[in-house]
Parts: sequence; C-alpha cells; structure tokens
Amino acid sequence: MRFPLTLAHILERAGRLFPQSEIVSRLPDRSLHRYTYADFCRRARVLGGALQHLGLKRGDRVATLMWNHHAHLEAYFAIPCAGGVLHTLNLRLHPDDIAYIANHAGDRFLIVDDVLLPLYDKFRDRTKFERVIVVPLTGSSVPAGFEDHEALVAQSVPLEAPVLDEEDPAGMCYTSGTTGRPKGVVYSHRALVLHSLASALPDVLGLGNHDAVCPVVPMFHVNAWGLPFTAVMVGAKLVFPGPNLDAVSLLDLYEREQVTLTAGVPTIWMGILQALEQEPARWKLAAGMRMVVGGAAAPEAMIRAFDRFGLRVIQGWGMTETTPVAAVNYVKRELAQVAGDEHYALRAKQGVPLPFVEVRAMTGDGEAPWDGKTMGELEVRGPWIAARYHELQEEAGKWTADDWFRTGDVVTIDAHGYIKITDRIKDLIKSGGEWISSVDLENALVGHPKVAEAAVIALPHPKWDERPLAVVVLKTGLSATADELRNYLAPKFARYWLPDDVVFVSEIPRTSTGKMMKAKLREQFKGWSETNK
Ligand code: ADP
Repeated sequence: MRFPLTLAHILERAGRLFPQSEIVSRLPDRSLHRYTYADFCRRARVLGGALQHLGLKRGDRVATLMWNHHAHLEAYFAIPCAGGVLHTLNLRLHPDDIAYIANHAGDRFLIVDDVLLPLYDKFRDRTKFERVIVVPLTGSSVPAGFEDHEALVAQSVPLEAPVLDEEDPAGMCYTSGTTGRPKGVVYSHRALVLHSLASALPDVLGLGNHDAVCPVVPMFHVNAWGLPFTAVMVGAKLVFPGPNLDAVSLLDLYEREQVTLTAGVPTIWMGILQALEQEPARWKLAAGMRMVVGGAAAPEAMIRAFDRFGLRVIQGWGMTETTPVAAVNYVKRELAQVAGDEHYALRAKQGVPLPFVEVRAMTGDGEAPWDGKTMGELEVRGPWIAARYHELQEEAGKWTADDWFRTGDVVTIDAHGYIKITDRIKDLIKSGGEWISSVDLENALVGHPKVAEAAVIALPHPKWDERPLAVVVLKTGLSATADELRNYLAPKFARYWLPDDVVFVSEIPRTSTGKMMKAKLREQFKGWSETNK
C-alpha cells in the first residue's frame, strides 16, 4: 500500500492515542504553563485553519521567532499540516541576518513571541510579512496592527486538511553562517518522519512514551534536533524551558518535572556540571537522565564527570543539512567489555551512523579505510540529508556527482564504524606537512582541573606553515601558566602537536548556536608569534 509519510499522521495519531500526555512550558516570568496533548492537538489544528483563513497557500513559508514552548510546538504542526512550510528564525542572529534570511526564504507570515517584539522592531522595516501574529506569553495585550495568537486559536475555523505528498516541504532552517552567508535547507514531510522514526530507536535516542523530554537546544535551531516531532510521535511528556536557560533554572525544571531526556550544546552542559559540582546534593534528578550533546564535541572529561552524577551523556553528530541527527554514540555489543580510559575514548567519538545514513571519509586518493587513523572529509547520504540549498545554485559543489553531501568535517572512521571528528576543514592545523587536530587538543585541555574552556587555532608560521596556539579560559578564581598546561598535554601528544603558546582570556567568542568563532580568534591573534618573541 502506498501511504504518505507526513506530519499530519503524527498529529492525528497523537490526538487519538495520547490525549492525556502532558506538555509543560516555563514562561518568561518563570511560571509553568501546563496542558495536555488533547489541548495541543486541538489548538494546532485551529491555528492551521486560521492560517488558511488568513490566506496561507500550499508551500507558503511561515516564519517563527519564538523560544521553546507549547505555542511553538503548535506552530511546528499547524503550519505543515495546513500545507505550509515552518521556517524557524534564529533569534540569536544579528537583526540584519534575520531580515536577509526571512527575505531570502520569501516568508509570508510571522509568528512571534511578545517578548521578542523588541527584536522584531530592529528588522521589521526590512521585511515584508503580510501578517504578524503575536503570542501573548506575558499575558499583556497584543499591540494594534498585529494578529493576536490567542484570539486566533480561540476561533473555530476548521483546518481544511490538504492531501499532502510526503515529498512536500514541511520545514526549513538556515545554517548559522559560520561558513559564509546563511544557507537555507528545506525538510520534506518524509525526511522529518523518517528522521523521527530513526531517532526514537533504542540505539539512537531510545525515546518512548514513558520519557519526559526537555529540548534545551532551541526550536529555532534545526528543529531542536527533531525532538518535538519524535516526542509527539511516541506521546512522551514534553517539558519546554522557555527563555530561562541558566544552569540553575534548568536543573530546577529537570527535578520538578523528572525529565528523563534532555538535549543541548556542550556549553550548556559545562554550566550544568559546574552548578552540580558546587551543590552536589541540591537536585534529585531522574536516575540515569540522558543528556544528548551535539553541535560541538563533548569532551571526554565531561562525559566522565556526568557519569559520576549518574547522568548519561549521549553524543550525536549532525548538521543543519542532515536534519540533523546522522550519527549517535552508543557502545556496541562487541565493545561492552572495553573499560576504563578506552571506554571513555570510545564514548567521546561522534558515534555510528543511523540506519539509512551512509558515510565515507574521502582523501585525495579516494575513500579512507575504516582504520581509525586515516583522516578524510566526511561525506554522507540518506533520506533525510539535504539534496540542495534553497535557491542557491553556487553552492552545488557541496554535493558530489554521485549525490553525496560534503560535510566539511575531517574525520576518521574506525573498524567498528565509529566516526571521530578531527576538525572542520577550515580549522585543521597543518604543521610541517602533518595535520594537527585542534579538537583533540581542546578536549585534552578541558580535562585539566583548572580549565573551563579552550580553543586551539592555527597561526601562520614561516617554517612550519602553521603552528597551534591555545586560547584558554580558566575556571573562576584559578590561575595557571602556559608551561603548566603544556606539561599537562605533553604525555598525551607527539611533541610537534603541543601548542607553541597558551593565551589566557576571559571569554571565547561563540556563534549563535554555541560554536567557538575560530575565525575571529585567528584574526585577533594574527600577530601573536611575532609580538611574543
Ligand atoms: P553551522 O554549519 O552553521 O555551524 P550546524 O549546526 O549545521 O551549523 O553545524 C554542524 C557542524 O557542527 C558539523 O559540521 C560539525 O562540525 C559540528 N558538530 C556537530 N555535532 C558535533 C559533535 N558531536 N562533535 C563535534 N562537532 C560537531
């Protein structure tokens, strides 16, 4: 039987099978909003109908400028189920970039949190939304000239469910632009459904009806890694943190709602770890809470530290272009006996590819052997890997002639199929004809008890081409010397890998999605070697 894989099925099923499952949102004033899937499904359908009534046509883009909460979840389903395309705008970008992205995508409508109206004001004159719908999260009245989201969902305009094709576009997201102009990626219903099915598998995120899922990763960043779709598919409890993302607020929420699975970038978990270390007995979290980490490498020291608290870090790898989950780390049966340092070295790898995701590492001489040593550029293909960017022909070279996507990540793949990211191509350090992995050095540095964060960058060098420089943030109130840190690294690396110098700074610049801005650091420390000799 031919049966389309669409989000409409997930919404319909959730309403029938899980009407009592709960959705909890922390609002900007820190109060908790609670309702059930029955309310969510009803409101999502009404919102879809209201959008159609406002003129939404098949394939029209509807932008959201929202934090993680129930109303955003409603938009996640309402827009695609009404035939539109959910386009999540990244509120951490510069207003000029947000305007560029909304215009490039051709967004017709915008749904915006009332607390984000001041941000909208900064770029509204450069955009052409036909309707702007405001979600009154704070309870204050919606200003004139805007549609009131609550008034729309209080109506009873029925959704005219279109007959969706699984290849129809359902969502889109722009890359954060760490590598040039933001590029738009369109997700089909089929891609999102298959990604949800694969994500829920036991050896991926192992998500089920009994879970309480808290996506800390923003819903404006690659669909919060697909968690809202996967969680609704299985009827899990959902817990949304809203705009309060400091470690104490998150830990309070995890404890109160007994969260069993949460997800975010490593910087979030570093903060959580520091809070737990300061007050180890303060929070009674659900035993074995899983913490999905991605977007940047999860340092081995962090995985070990959370194990001591009985919390389990699961590392995943992905990109905006891969919807995003493409590989996840779990310990395979044949490696279950591996213990101690080797166990942690294994868990610090980015993981094995999901079913239907194929990977290869390409060198100048063809495909690298899966030996855990040979480095090459990771290429991927599969049903939820993007085939092109939205209206951007000049980037077609990111795909090979035989349809593999070139990720720009340099990796090794070992005999068991575990991928290990060495670097992004542009961040690799090439010294005397050898490659030095900045990621390996950074992960080792954050294992030092005094180091909070570390970035290792390439500096131009007259003899060796490039040499590594470590830029380090120390933990509050502690001091260290460059030699102390170099001596700490010395037993772990070949001599030529050791950074020529260590600079101490108070902060490492980060992108809107928490990645270290190495290009900025390279610019900042361009003259370092000369000035310090
Ligand atoms: P952008 O490409 O704009 O930085 P993405 O969120 O799409 O935004 O970033 C994807 C990149 O993030 C990957 O190509 C990879 O370099 C990095 N990344 C993602 N997950 C991991 C991980 N677990 N370990 C190391 N790097 C990761």
